Amino acid sequence: MARPEPGPAPAGRPVVERSAAVPGPSALTVRPLDGGAAERARGPAGARTIVSVGRGVGGPDAVARYRRLAELTGAALGASRAAVDGGWLPFAHQVGQTGATVAPDLYVAFGISGAVQHTAGMRASGRVVAVNTDPDAPIARLADLVIAADANEVADALLRRLEREG
Ligand SMILES: Cc1cc2nc3c(=O)[nH]c(=O)nc-3n(C[C@H](O)[C@H](O)[C@H](O)COP(=O)(O)OP(=O)(O)OC[C@H]3O[C@@H](n4cnc5c(N)ncnc54)[C@H](O)[C@@H]3O)c2cc1C
Repeated sequence: MARPEPGPAPAGRPVVERSAAVPGPSALTVRPLDGGAAERARGPAGARTIVSVGRGVGGPDAVARYRRLAELTGAALGASRAAVDGGWLPFAHQVGQTGATVAPDLYVAFGISGAVQHTAGMRASGRVVAVNTDPDAPIARLADLVIAADANEVADALLRRLEREG
């Protein structure tokens, strides 16, 4: 069946990319953004780009790839309370009602459902990308783009691309 032509999403609806497989090298253009070490060191508050992780990434061992992704793209690392309560990241990274309130240009949520207590802290983001196996997760309601795929597979594909490009 022919894929529909990409185009602007209807108002209030995100573009949903279903991705059983990892995006191929030609499907993505990955460019480091400004920010660098200073942005990473101060945590998500005030950052222009945030890579944020939630329970859906699976556990503490998965976090290293997101820290690396943040380093390579000059992003800050954010987290949901579930990830912080699990001891995967320190509280300084928590975004939400009881964490940091952020308004980056780009917020990329990996494995975060989008509970109201989380979105309270990031809903002022310029653009929101959600990587979630459930395209109907609440975060999709405020996302510009939903990548319906395994978070770690998408992160690993981005890392391979970034590391190949140096
Ligand atoms: C008073 C109060 C204050 C709170 N303050 C905050 C706060 O400041 N910040 C905050 O974040 N929360 C806060 N919470 C908690 C909040 O209600 C949620 O429980 C929390 O945000 C859920 O975190 P999560 O999205 O990581 O986990 P979950 O809700 O468990 O969501 C996990 C998501 O990962 C997806 N997923 C599963 N497997 C994969 C995979 N392999 N790849 C991709 N996606 C996958 C699932 O579809 C799901 O959408 C607060 C709660 C209360 C009661």
